[in-house]
Amino acid sequence: MKKPIPEFYCPYSDKCYQCCLDTEMTLSEEDITRIEKLGYEIYEFLEEKDGFMTLRNIDNHCIFLKNTRCSIYENRPQGCRFYPLIYDFEIEDFVLDNLCDHQEDFDLEIYRPLFDSVQVFVYNLVSERDIRMRKTMEEDIKVESKESKEEIEDPVKKEINKIESDKEKIESLMAQVIDDVKDENVENLEEALKSEMREIEEEIEELEKGIQADIVSAEEYIKITEKSIKSEIDDLEKRRKNSEEDNN
Ligand code: SF4
Ligand code: SF4
Repeated sequence: MKKPIPEFYCPYSDKCYQCCLDTEMTLSEEDITRIEKLGYEIYEFLEEKDGFMTLRNIDNHCIFLKNTRCSIYENRPQGCRFYPLIYDFEIEDFVLDNLCDHQEDFDLEIYRPLFDSVQVFVYNLVSERDIRMRKTMEEDIKVESKESKEEIEDPVKKEINKIESDKEKIESLMAQVIDDVKDENVENLEEALKSEMREIEEEIEELEKGIQADIVSAEEYIKITEKSIKSEIDDLEKRRKNSEEDNN
């Protein structure tokens, strides 16, 4: 079982509640957990000041002060149990808070046995504050780095989207160009075929001309030959007639 931390006993607490007015009492994580277990939500009883968690005030008094009495007395924060004994960081020593109505009535030396506990408690508060602030800073850094990342990524994403869009346009244009080229090739092919056809037709024409020339030559040769044969026949006929006349 955990050893209870010694407390400051205030003989005036039945009548005085000055330390519960406009309080700036700082709570440890253990205090917070203990009070939460009573059914209170953190936002109901806490405020944050420079990373320290302090009791909330309503109408200039602690939220737990009801009819001049502490409503969570058995579970009140550890700082309330030490008060008015506090550790002054500026002078690095233990003092009785001058805001206490009966500060003059207390003898600090009587409370010396509490010093170690107060010091451990106060350093624990500072340590918890540092951890809290580091977490906050880490969260801030995370948010900032996320925002920075987004700031960097967003233009890059935009650029990528633009490139993707340009790529689609280029692909579309390429497809169009390919179609055009295909059409052009067909046209070229048609042109080439037509040219080939023209050459073939010219060759056929040349051949026809050649054949026609050969036919003309052949016909002339036949005519000449017929003429020669006819001449020879005429000569033979003449010779036959001459021979008959000679025989008569
Ligand atoms: S928690 Fe209780 S003792 Fe502490 S300041 Fe509030 S009312 Fe006072
Ligand atoms: S202000 Fe001082 S005297 Fe009054 S209750 Fe608090 S500790 Fe006691």
